[in-house]
Amino acid sequence: MNDTFLMGCHLSVAHGFAAMARTAVRIDANVIQCFIRNPRGGQMRAIDAEDIAEYRRIAAEHGFAPLIVHAPYTVNPCSDKPETRELARRFFTEELDRLELIPGSLYNFHPGSHVGQGVEEGIRLIVELLNAVMPHAKSTTVLLETMAGKGSEVGRTFEELREIMDRAEQGDRLGVTLDTCHISDGGYDVVGKLDAVLETFDRVVGLSRLHAIHLNDSKNPLGAHKDRHARIGEGMLGTDAIARIINHPKLRALPFCLETPQDDDDGYGREIALLRSLRTPV
Ligand code: FE
Ligand code: FE
Ligand code: ZN
Repeated sequence: MNDTFLMGCHLSVAHGFAAMARTAVRIDANVIQCFIRNPRGGQMRAIDAEDIAEYRRIAAEHGFAPLIVHAPYTVNPCSDKPETRELARRFFTEELDRLELIPGSLYNFHPGSHVGQGVEEGIRLIVELLNAVMPHAKSTTVLLETMAGKGSEVGRTFEELREIMDRAEQGDRLGVTLDTCHISDGGYDVVGKLDAVLETFDRVVGLSRLHAIHLNDSKNPLGAHKDRHARIGEGMLGTDAIARIINHPKLRALPFCLETPQDDDDGYGREIALLRSLRTPV
């Protein structure tokens, strides 16, 4: 049985896609997440077909998981300001168009914050944005990220994510990224009740809709609604709980991506080595 451990981290594409892929190989990562523009906004780099071809060659040679592109997190898809929502729509559209150069990628986004308009209105605005941008996701799977419930964030509960997927026009093509820090902060006990949390996820969203795991420890306790990531084993989840997550029969085939606070890529490399040592054979 193929039991490849897809384990990697968030990297910078500042020096190009091929350089990013070479960094991944150096630190033993076969999963990459990146922003394709400054997360605060700004222009995307000009297309370098040669660079993208080299990235795809390295990714194929080393059996990388699909590239995960993280949407800029400062553009709020369910803002109360039309110009902010329009910016989100423009960024998502441009990035999804660009991603067709790397077919079969994943595009992960934060549903956003309803800023006092209420969850219902927030969900309506997110669905409106998805209806506009999904036609641009031809070969890309768009993923909603589970959120910590900080402030007025939408997407803290699995039910909210399900409602967005049910109401969006191409909602059957949407998936979910589960962030272990976020769901713990959101109130799901992944330390004490992992099986029950996954059963709930399966019932509400469906495990077949789960495409990636953001593997992070949390600086804060269960239900804190904070969203501050900790290094693996240095937070409230702890190494044992993280080991159960990467080895869980329902999760182990998924790509795992670290978003832990590191000083440099070698910090990720050390964490990836630790996690590879915690992986148990089937
Ligand atoms: Fe995120
Ligand atoms: Fe995340
Ligand atoms: Zn986070």
